[in-house]
Order: sequence, then structure tokens, then C-alpha cells
Amino acid sequence: MLYESTRGGAAGITSAEAIKTGIAPDGGLFVPERLAKVSQEKLIQMADMSYMERAGLILGAYLDDYKPEEINACIKKAYGSKFNHDKIVPFIKLSDQMFIQELWHGPTSAFKDMALQILPHLLVRAVKKTGEEKEIIVLVATSGDTGKAALEGFKDVKGTKIIVFFPDEGVSEIQKMQMITQEGENVYAIGIKGNFDDAQSGVKNIFTNFDIKEKMAQRGFMFSSANSINWGRLAPQIVYYFSTYADLFARKEVEMGELINIVVPTGNFGNILAAYYAYRMGLPVNRLICASNENNVLTEFIISGTYDRRRDFVKTISPSMDILISSNLERLLYEANGRNFSRVREWMQELAKEGFYKIDDETHDKIASIFWSEYSNENEILNTIRSIYEEYNYIVDTHTAVGIDVYDKYVISTGDVTKSVIASTASPFKFNKSVCTAILGKESVVGKSEFELLDMLAEKSGLVVPEGLKGLDTKEIRHNIRCGVNEMRRCVEKILRI
Ligand SMILES: *Cc1c(COP(=O)(O)O)cnc(C)c1O
Repeated sequence: MLYESTRGGAAGITSAEAIKTGIAPDGGLFVPERLAKVSQEKLIQMADMSYMERAGLILGAYLDDYKPEEINACIKKAYGSKFNHDKIVPFIKLSDQMFIQELWHGPTSAFKDMALQILPHLLVRAVKKTGEEKEIIVLVATSGDTGKAALEGFKDVKGTKIIVFFPDEGVSEIQKMQMITQEGENVYAIGIKGNFDDAQSGVKNIFTNFDIKEKMAQRGFMFSSANSINWGRLAPQIVYYFSTYADLFARKEVEMGELINIVVPTGNFGNILAAYYAYRMGLPVNRLICASNENNVLTEFIISGTYDRRRDFVKTISPSMDILISSNLERLLYEANGRNFSRVREWMQELAKEGFYKIDDETHDKIASIFWSEYSNENEILNTIRSIYEEYNYIVDTHTAVGIDVYDKYVISTGDVTKSVIASTASPFKFNKSVCTAILGKESVVGKSEFELLDMLAEKSGLVVPEGLKGLDTKEIRHNIRCGVNEMRRCVEKILRI
């Protein structure tokens, strides 16, 4: 399988090369030249496989320049012992129609682990396979969860260094402590005075800056990306949509071929794009439901066909979705408009220059025929957490609550009773302040730190505090750098001493 850029500037690239470089040289994103197909026969076989075997099947189709043994070695390192559930991704049946796909049993308690536990291993092998001798410098922009998952994934991985930029005032207490206490000899976490979009643009600018790349090359360094623009992150995310379907089939919750809806709380459009790829590969899907928070630029886009980022950035209680520029949408545009890269390039240029673009009706109709979208405000999120707790004795985090609330809106609006899988993207412990507020009332959290709330939530829910979140408050702070948006490049140069 070879890869090409969504903007037309590169083609015939191996998966190892695409994973190593992260972003195409023309600023576009790497996409496979065609989508692998998974037949119903294969899906039936998958029902008897473990998560790791399923991953081998899907990844093998896309990363065919890796030997099967290499892929299996990466899979084993990622999912072999670091997850706290033997199914890796279990599902919970809330009602006859509603299934929760728990994607947060990895070491950092958010779904980002699904891909970031394996990406470092794929990347290190990609470097070897392409004969690259430079040290890989992974730059990451994070709204909170990617940063920790990437730090944890790359920690002490030979031949790499990782530098994470997070919005200093835009992440939760727990998210921040997870990052600034990170251990490892090759890891750096830096708070920036700006929001996620600032961090993401800053990183993109560094990536595409010729001067710094030259300087790096002279010193034996090269950049790569652990953000979901990297194909090595997207491909592992396709796996769990097939996996959950196979589990539903194995447990006789669906018949083979029965269509399902998939609901995804969305920010950078990576997770839901993986669901779209799964659909195009043959997963029986009726609707993909894109759930946004008040930064509802995607909801507007899916309804109207106009993407308009010219609005205020809203800080919400689902911070991992506080994003106005959803990078991976570019890949959907590419697929949906018949792979017309010149049009994608124009739209992306308009977005960069004017802050908005409008797609043609034909492409919009195609997108709107499979995607449906709505958004939740802050009250709706809290109310959903409370009502799900009261009705099902099940506790969801704020992001998952957006998914459930939007799903309710979908059912009310369409009357559709198709069985639906809702991606649960974080453990409720990770966003415990809002979760406790929702189920125990505002007073319950007054004067308490997020660390004290961990225990309170554990007591109330009967769940155990995830290992990675325990004792965070007393861990040594190892990263104390803060910088302005315009100093990000300087920061990188300092760390690398170039
Ligand atoms: C990253 C994240 C999201 C958004 O996922 P995208 O792939 O960026 O759309 C949703 N919820 C949580 C908890 C996340 O960490």
C-alpha cells in the first residue's frame, strides 16, 4: 500500500516513510492510495480473535512494507501488558440500543493510548526500514490527553526525543500534573501562553520551516509528529471499530451485516475519521454521528458545508474537544470529493488566509449522507452525566457525555432506532471535577483538589482509581518551562542546542 498527499505534492510513499515524516512536504496529510477492504467473512473470523489479532489484520493491510512479525512485535509492546482490561476495548450495554465502547483502559486513561502506545514502535521501525540515521524529534501539540499519552508512549524509546506543547491554562489539573511529572530521559513538556489551536499552528510552522529543518539535519535530527495527522496514529484507531463490531456479533447483539451507528465525541476529527475509514472498508455503518461541544465548528460544517473558524474559542469542561481547526477533516474532504487534491489545497489555503471555506454541494451531500452532527452546551453535558448515572448506575466523563447527549438529540430528531456504539474517550476519573459536580452537586467539589476528588469518585462509583492517576499530586515536578506562542521555535532550538 502506498501513500499520497491530500494536496497532491507527494505520491508513491511507503507507509514507513509516511509514518516517519508525519506530514507531507506540501503541508498536506498522507492518505493510503486506496482503502483496504474487510469482507463479512473476515468480520466473522474476527469474532474469534483477540484484540491483538484483529489489530494485526487491519494494520497488516495498511503497513504492508512492515513484515508481519514486525507488526506483531509492535502490537505486543503496545497492547500486551499496559492495558488494565484483558479485552483492551470492552463494550458496555446500556440499553437495547446503546452500547458504550470504552477506549480508555490504557496507561493514561484516555483513548489516545489506543494509538500512542503503538506509534513509537512503528516509528522506530520506520526509521530503520527507511535507512534513516537521524534522531527523531517528535513535536506534539496537545489539548491535554495526547500530550500525556505521547510522553508515556515515547518515554525512553531509543533514537527519539519528544517535545510536547500544551495550553498552560487550558488543561485540567490532572492533565497538567500528568505531563509535568513525566519521567524519562528524552521527554519535554512545555506550557504555552495560548490555546490548542495556537499550539497546533506553532508546531505546524516549525515543521514546515525550511531553516530549522536544515539546521536540524546538520546536527543529525529530524522532526516527526505524534498528532493524529500522522498515519501511524490513525491506522491503529480503525482497529477498534472493527473490534467492537466483532464483539457485538460474538455476543449476539448484532447479526452479521446489521448496520450500526457510531457516535464519536470529536475535536481534531481523528477518531471519527478512523470510523469513516472503517465504514469505507466494509464495516456495516448506518450513520456516523459527530458530537461537538460549544466549539461547534464541525457541526456547522456538516450541516451547512461551510467551515468557519472565525469565532471565539470557548473553554469548556470537555477540553480535549476545544478545537477550532480540525486537521483531519482534510482527509475526509479528499475522500469525499473524489480525491481532487487541487480543490482540497484551495480550501485549505482559504482556511489559512480567510478563516473559512465553503465546499461544493456535491461533496457536501456526500458527507451529509453519512455524517450527522449536533453539539452540547455545558449544562447539557452535566445533565447527561447525572441522568446516565441515575438511570444506569454508570459514570461517564464529560467528553463521552457529549457523545450521549448528541446521540439523544439524533434519536429525537430522526426517530432512528438503529443500534448505536458510542465511543467513550476518557475515564471519568480524568475529568472528575465536572463528573463530581454532575452527580454529587456543586457543593461537593468546593475547596477540593482534583486529587482529593479521585477518592471521592472512587467511593461513590465503586470503581478503582486508575493506576496512572494515583499519587500524581505528590510526584516530583520535572518540567517547568513555559513559553509564548512566538517562542516555540526558540524553545525547540534550545532543547536541541541548535
Ligand atoms: C482527543 C480527545 C477527543 C477528540 O478526539 P479527536 O480524534 O481529536 O476528534 C475526545 N475526547 C477525549 C477524551 C480526547 O482525549
